Order: sequence, then C-alpha cells, then structure tokens
Amino acid sequence: MSDNLTIHWFRQDLRLEDNPSLYYAVLKGSVLPVYILDDRNAADFRMGGANRWWLHHSLESLNRSLQGRLTLLMGDPLEILPALAALTGATKVYWNRCYEPWRINRDTRLKHKLREQGITAESFNGSMLWEPWEVHKSDGTPYKVFTPFYRKGCLSAASPRMPLPLPVKLDCPSPPEESLPLEALGLLPRIRWYRQLEPHWTIGENGALERLAIFLKHGLPGYREGRDFPARPNVSRLSPSLHFGEISPNQAWHGAIAAGSGIDLDHFQSELAWREFSYSLLYHNPGLPEKNLQKSFDRFPWKENPAALMRWQQGLTGYPIVDAGMRELWQTGYMHNRIRMVAGSFLVKNLLLHWHEGESWFRDCLADADLAINSASWQWIAGCGADAAPYFRIFNPVTQGQKFDADGSYTRRYLPELARLPDRYLFSPWEAPVSVLADAGIATGKTYPEPIVDLKSSRRQALEAYALTRNHS
Ligand code: FAD
Repeated sequence: MSDNLTIHWFRQDLRLEDNPSLYYAVLKGSVLPVYILDDRNAADFRMGGANRWWLHHSLESLNRSLQGRLTLLMGDPLEILPALAALTGATKVYWNRCYEPWRINRDTRLKHKLREQGITAESFNGSMLWEPWEVHKSDGTPYKVFTPFYRKGCLSAASPRMPLPLPVKLDCPSPPEESLPLEALGLLPRIRWYRQLEPHWTIGENGALERLAIFLKHGLPGYREGRDFPARPNVSRLSPSLHFGEISPNQAWHGAIAAGSGIDLDHFQSELAWREFSYSLLYHNPGLPEKNLQKSFDRFPWKENPAALMRWQQGLTGYPIVDAGMRELWQTGYMHNRIRMVAGSFLVKNLLLHWHEGESWFRDCLADADLAINSASWQWIAGCGADAAPYFRIFNPVTQGQKFDADGSYTRRYLPELARLPDRYLFSPWEAPVSVLADAGIATGKTYPEPIVDLKSSRRQALEAYALTRNHS
C-alpha cells in the first residue's frame, strides 16, 4: 500500500463531517479507515443489545459513505493496530479520544506500543465541547455541582470550536483481505427483537444531521418548556447519534446558536453541558458505574425482589406513566428524559431496588446507552451521586402523569389497553368505578395489573431507609 498512509481508527466518531482525526489524517495523504469491535478490553462494559443493533446499522451507513472502503475487524486493538500498520506500511495512526476508563487505559498502552514501533500515534478531541480536564475550579479540583460547572467552568473556558468541514479529498485504499464482512461482527442477535425498533430511526450520519435540522426548526422554539412533555416534539432524539458520534456536540451547539435564541437556546446548551458534566464525573471518578459517589449510601438497605424488577422491566407495575415509559424503551430503544426520571425514581424509591438494576437494564435496552451519562443519571436519581436529586424528592407517578401527559396521548400510545379510560382515571386506574373500567374494556388484574406497591407506604419506607443511612453517617 501507499508509503504515506495514515490509519484513522473509527470509534465513537462514526461520521465524516467535523471529525478532527479524519480531517487531519486526510491532510497528510491517503487514509485507511478502520473500525475494530473490542469486546475483550471492554470486559464487563461490553455494549448492550440496543447499542449493538445501532452500531451495526451505523457502520453499514458509514461504510456506504466511504464507498465500501471501511476495514472492519474484531479483537484487541493493542494487537491489531500495530500489526495492521506493519502490514500496510502505515506510518501514522490517528483517532478521536474516548473517556471510558477501560478505553483510556487501553489507548494509553496503545500509544506507547505504536511509538515504540516508530509509528506516530495521535489523538484528537472529537466528542466533547470541553475536555474533562479543561473545566475545573480555581484550585484545580473538579466541580461536583452542575450549575457552577457549567456557568463558571464551561462558559468561562474557551468557546467550543466551530465544526470542521468534510475532509477535502478522501483517498482510501481498498481494505486488506483481513477485513471482515459486517455480519461477521455478530452485532445483531439471532432473535430479531430489534425489528420493532427499526421504524423509529434513520441510523447514520445523514439521519443524525436530518434529526438535528428538524429539531432546530420545530423543536428548539419552545424547547425549555416543551422538553418536559413526552408527547411534544420538542426534544432532539440525538442521544444515540451523539453517543456513537454520528454527529458531534459542536455541530449541535453551533447549529443551535445559528437557529435559536433566548431561554430555549440557553436551555438546550445547558442540556448538552449535562452530557459534559457526566463525562467529567466519570473521568474524575472512574468507579462511577459501580460505586456510590456518596459513601453513606453504601449502607442503604436495598431490597432484593426479582418479581418486582421483572414487572418494572416489562412495564407491568400498574402505574401507567411508568409502564408507558418502560414500553417506550422496549419498543423504540429510547425513553423520554422526564419519564426516565419518573421510572427511575419508582425503581429506586418505591420498589427500593438497587440503582445498579436500573442502570444495567437501561444499558441493555437504550440505543443511547452511554457509560458516563447512564451511571451519572442513575446515581443522580438514587440520590447518591454528585449534585443528586435529594433522596426525599420522590416523584409521584400519578401527579407526574397528570402534569406532563395531561391529555394522555403519550401514555395511551404505549398502553393501548388503557386507551378508552377517561383522562380523569388514566394515571390511577384503581380509582375508577367498576362501570367506567367495564366501559373502557379493562379487567383489572387481567388486561392491566393492579399497582405492585402502595405509593404512600412505599414512600414512607424509602424515607425511613434514607434516615437510617444518614443517621449512621
Ligand atoms: P435533548 O433534550 O434533545 O438533549 C440533547 C442532548 O443533550 C442529548 O442527546 C444528550 O446528549 C444531552 N442531554 C440531555 N439531557 C441530559 C441529561 N439529563 N444528562 C446528560 N446529558 C443530557 N442519556 C444518554 O445519552 N445515555 C444514557 O445512557 C442515559 N441514561 C439516562 C438514565 C437515566 C435514569 C436518566 C434520568 C437519564 C439518562 N440520560 C441518558 C439522559 C437523558 O435522558 C437523555 O440524554 C435524553 O433523554 C436524550 O434525548 P434527546 O437526545 O431527545 O435529548
């Protein structure tokens, strides 16, 4: 192959536009684009099912954009990349940085190994507005609270860079014969549960750019208020694309500045900054996915209740807004943020099940499952995280439904068995008179379950458990 070849290693940056590593690699000459499925180093943090489904289609789309020139491999990049450089005569390996602890560890070792072999190894920032180490307090320590992190830290740091254009001229050699067909990566399971997810998404860079454009036109105006109502079209649904890097946060940030203004723009930017905050938390606390940030929670008396956990997972708790969210997750690979909070609070506070159970179910079912954001958000919901929701703030699934889905259109979409129940009883079917239930075709306990816990007593139990934890601290 070419004697001035750079390997661009695609990871969480499955796009051509605004891709710093690819952009600078192309400036040096011809580029061998490579993706490596690395389950070995990921170990316990292997991607879940919905992530893998998304990745399959995202790679398919990327390979189409590269006119079939994407090299696909599977195994340990620590062995594969030095060998591939030797095989192809590549003198440089470039990539965009990732921030999961297992990836930082692997990439650091890889850099040393390549450099020892006389190969230039360079990494770039392709997925953060600010690198996790760039935003810190004046004493150099990381922020633990979101508002100062964003208002003082991020906004007083340099503005996020403008997106880079498409690489000028992509000159890619044919993949080496070691390259695998996409199917060989085995990202799609044999049981085709993912079929129901397909109609909800256009996966890949073009789909992401399209979703951003639609959002900027129709969702951003009114975002601040509308983002809390799951039936309104005010959220971007960009999260899986941001996770896989089909679009960069810089494209979203600067796109929003060009299209919007005032409180809606400010609020959207602050949500992008919550993503940055989650990454900062993971970077500075590599144990975030497993360990409570607030140590007093190590004593929290979580319950074990596999039957209740399964009812929650299946959307059969008897609380319609929770069940609608859990079924949205199962049917689409996504759940609206407001409902993630309500369903999450129900699991950890009303059922008293460990936040790890919720984190791991979400990790498997969310197309946007992201180690940093998922762990930080579950810790936030459970009350044990940085800047967490106070433990005594327990979302009431009945009033949350009445407030944020008042006409029931979201809940009825995912719970067709309750479609004919009048609004007044939609979020508390157990209060409906027998005749109303009969008219709506509902047989409680048969077509829709009785509530699996009582809200008042479970709330009291949660507060008692919390008091116990605090008294010991
Ligand atoms: P928009 O409102 O359009 O926001 C734009 C982008 O900002 C999002 O795509 C996301 O990257 C970022 N963002 C928005 N809200 C948050 C937030 N609260 N925290 C961090 N970043 C945010 N998000 C994930 O991407 N992956 C996860 O695994 C994940 N797990 C979560 C688990 C729980 C229990 C909760 C409560 C939230 C979780 N979130 C997660 C955060 C949030 O729910 C999603 O980012 C959001 O719903 C994605 O929808 P959107 O792209 O339409 O958001």
